[in-house]
Amino acid sequence: MSKVIIIGAGGVANVVAKKCAQNDQVFTEVLIATRTVAKADKIVAEIKEHMPHSKAVFTTATVDADNVPELVGLINDFGPKMVINVALPYQDLTIMDACLETGVHYLDTANYEPKDVAKFEYSWQWAYQDRFKDKGLMALLGCGFDPGATQAFTAWHAKHHFQEIHYLDIVDCNNGNHGKAFATNFNPEINIREITANGRYWENGQWVETQPLEISQDIYYPKVATRKSFVLYHEELESLVKHFPTIKRARFWMTFGEAYIKHLNVLEGIGMTSIEPIDFRGMKVAPIEFLKAVLPAPESLAAGYSGQTCIGVQAKGIGKDGQPKVHFVYNVKDHADCYREVQAQGVSYTTGVPAMIGAMLMLQGEWMQPGVWNVEQLDPDPLFDAMNKWGLPISELADIELVKD
Ligand code: NDP
Repeated sequence: MSKVIIIGAGGVANVVAKKCAQNDQVFTEVLIATRTVAKADKIVAEIKEHMPHSKAVFTTATVDADNVPELVGLINDFGPKMVINVALPYQDLTIMDACLETGVHYLDTANYEPKDVAKFEYSWQWAYQDRFKDKGLMALLGCGFDPGATQAFTAWHAKHHFQEIHYLDIVDCNNGNHGKAFATNFNPEINIREITANGRYWENGQWVETQPLEISQDIYYPKVATRKSFVLYHEELESLVKHFPTIKRARFWMTFGEAYIKHLNVLEGIGMTSIEPIDFRGMKVAPIEFLKAVLPAPESLAAGYSGQTCIGVQAKGIGKDGQPKVHFVYNVKDHADCYREVQAQGVSYTTGVPAMIGAMLMLQGEWMQPGVWNVEQLDPDPLFDAMNKWGLPISELADIELVKD
């Protein structure tokens, strides 16, 4: 039915491509275009080996997604309906520009971040609203798990359980073990920039800033474990408090093990996480980029990864019956199951599946509408149905407060 281009060939792209291969009624022709084409070729070879019955036709190409004319040429040659951007947040704007120029729809899983400033916010991409609307094109922002499914979970709370949401806590637990001394589960550069930044949460109409990993709490993650979790700033908080103005406080929590924090502290202490380029043997090198080259690639963690992820959203407020209510919506995913299914670890899997589903809902028309959209603005019901079908079953827990005030 539809031709799409996937940009990027890392951990998340691997999952998106393989889920498209499974969903070959919708995704009939897929081009994986990336900087290092050998990685795209490897994904396609694995699809041929592990999914020989898929009717989807896969091809690969090299592209520099920082270069708009190059992207425009690629898109015009292939003629897709949409681009699924699972490269890095640095490429969001160039890919959106190329989509506008060629008249194709757009989806990504992380909001734009300039390479030389460790800062992310939606303003740059929200500024494309009129241009996408005027061209009758859709851009869906942040359709991974968090951001992505977590916003649909919030919209589900609002649609099915609450008159008003007052307190929102997004919780992200990786209770897995990849056996490495230190590694990140998605792109190390993006991940470390996120964690070493100051924390921030929304309270009574304003942002409250904290030191990195300053606030923590032991949180029980159903079916998984009780884990120490830390308040981080995460991008979906910005759009959620905008679109659900009854929210008085919104926080994002993530688990980190002691060994992880110890390594990170040392790396930060010696300057290895800095984004400021230094002179090294006649070259300018940002230490964090060098660190990325040393650390294991996220996709390489998949074989032998054990344990589960649990990501969910707790809402507190006034229920549909007018009474105070607390409710939790979540997914638990097993790393080893992800590996068996698509040779990926759970963090790539939980990101890649909602990206494939978001693209499907756009292509099938259920979500398609011109303009720039965040996931919570769209009907959560079809996403819930599709997550249950495509490998991310959703559970709910009523009347138990997992995250305390
Ligand atoms: P990886 O680093 O594994 O993969 C990124 C891919 O993008 C690589 O194949 C890389 O090429 C390619 N790439 C980078 N720059 C360019 C460029 N200029 N032109 C073309 N290709 C380029 O990252 P992940 O797969 O782990 O993450 C992908 C995205 O998903 C990131 O934006 C990340 O922030 C997001 N993410 C979102 C989550 C969510 O829940 N919403 C959770 C986890 C990740 P090369 O192989 O040459 O390096």
